[in-house]
Amino acid sequence: MALSDLPSVDQLLSSDSSARLVALYGRAPVTRALRAELDVARQNIRAGGSVPSTEAILSTTGDRLARESESSLQTVMNLTGTVLHTNLGRAPLPPEAIEAMARIAAQPSNLEYDLDSGRRGDRDTHIENLIVQITGAEAATVVNNNAAAVLLALNTLALGKEVVVSRGELIEIGGSFRIPDIMARAGCRLVEVGTTNRTHPADYERAIGKDTALIMKVHTSNYEIRGFTRSVSESELAALCQSRTIPLVTDLGSGTLVDLQRYGLPEEPTVQSALANGADLVTFSGDKLLGGPQAGIIAGKRELVAKMKANPLKRALRVDKLTLAALFEVLKLYRDPESLPRRLPALQLLSRPIESIKEAAGTVHPVLAKRLAGVANVTIEAAMSQVGSGSLPLDQLPSLALVIAPLDPSEAALQGLASAFRHLPTPVIGRVHDGKLLFDVRTLERPQEFNAQLSQLDVP
Ligand SMILES: *Cc1c(COP(=O)(O)O)cnc(C)c1O
Repeated sequence: MALSDLPSVDQLLSSDSSARLVALYGRAPVTRALRAELDVARQNIRAGGSVPSTEAILSTTGDRLARESESSLQTVMNLTGTVLHTNLGRAPLPPEAIEAMARIAAQPSNLEYDLDSGRRGDRDTHIENLIVQITGAEAATVVNNNAAAVLLALNTLALGKEVVVSRGELIEIGGSFRIPDIMARAGCRLVEVGTTNRTHPADYERAIGKDTALIMKVHTSNYEIRGFTRSVSESELAALCQSRTIPLVTDLGSGTLVDLQRYGLPEEPTVQSALANGADLVTFSGDKLLGGPQAGIIAGKRELVAKMKANPLKRALRVDKLTLAALFEVLKLYRDPESLPRRLPALQLLSRPIESIKEAAGTVHPVLAKRLAGVANVTIEAAMSQVGSGSLPLDQLPSLALVIAPLDPSEAALQGLASAFRHLPTPVIGRVHDGKLLFDVRTLERPQEFNAQLSQLDVP
């Protein structure tokens, strides 16, 4: 009975509210959403519910359309204490890079077109000179990420052959990048040498045979082996490789292009030093310590880079024009290392002075404590941030954290609190440690924005 009291789609579409929705979203999506809302209403009525008013149906239809047109990909506040967090998008880009991407995105470009000759060009030309200038490499090429760079290097130089790697360097990076798996997919045979904690030059020497294509050195980005250890340095390996005329390929992971110690940060090997130590090729990420867009850079000997450019896999792994536009602007900043901490957001966060962190913590603390009164105690405590993305593995950057200790000691209360922060308009992501929720303030750049949305926090 009641079902027949529901308005028809056509009746709903002829209303003024529908006209507004159609102007906003288009006729077909509005029609589809109205049908979906009528279905919901029918189910409710069958279950004993009442007939909704026309206004109610139009209002829920509007909500549905608004919800559906929101991207699930959104910005968040990363207060985890891991500055370059792989799951949270790694390096934030400088405005120059963002402007360059927008410019190149909107118009045709000479991406693969040589303006002098009027013929087809090579997309690497837009970036290769700058990489060469900064790193001192003979040549360079760029692919989609560092995993792709490693895959391309191995597949190009060692297909069907052996690659010698120390057992201490057979790493897994988060997100299923494992050296042995990449080797297999690249079509090479892994030859492990040494032990987990100690590898000697003689181990490499013994492993080199007629099927050896190269020696690979992998920067153990996300862990550290301490104690009774021995690894063979890049320069020792380079000398060995030279005497056997095979290349040395170094997977550096995060591409550090300046000595970070000048900014008060812990030491991290640079691309320049890897090349100077004799690596024939170095692979590294664009969005780790380099602070740019997701990309994998391969820099080194001209002849080897040329082979990689000629590999059909390069076509499958290539970067798009937006990445090239952004990467160029980021690399340009490296020409003036002095201004880098001001101009490169990733480095700005990593080298943020403790006074500035303290100020941000002080801005948030009273507001947060008041909002959580009766729910949790909030204190400011010393904390250690980490770089993240497998760079500088251990907690090394002194910082401050807002520490939220729920009055209800249950795990459910803690998780509920963490979830409430994750469901703010701009989700806030912290880390749970020792029964408390921690917000590392190093990466909180706009404390007022944090405070402003606290009124919408869904806690009792
Ligand atoms: C991070 C990392 C990779 C993978 O780089 P992506 O840019 O994430 O693909 C490979 N090797 C090492 C040593 C790394 O640290």
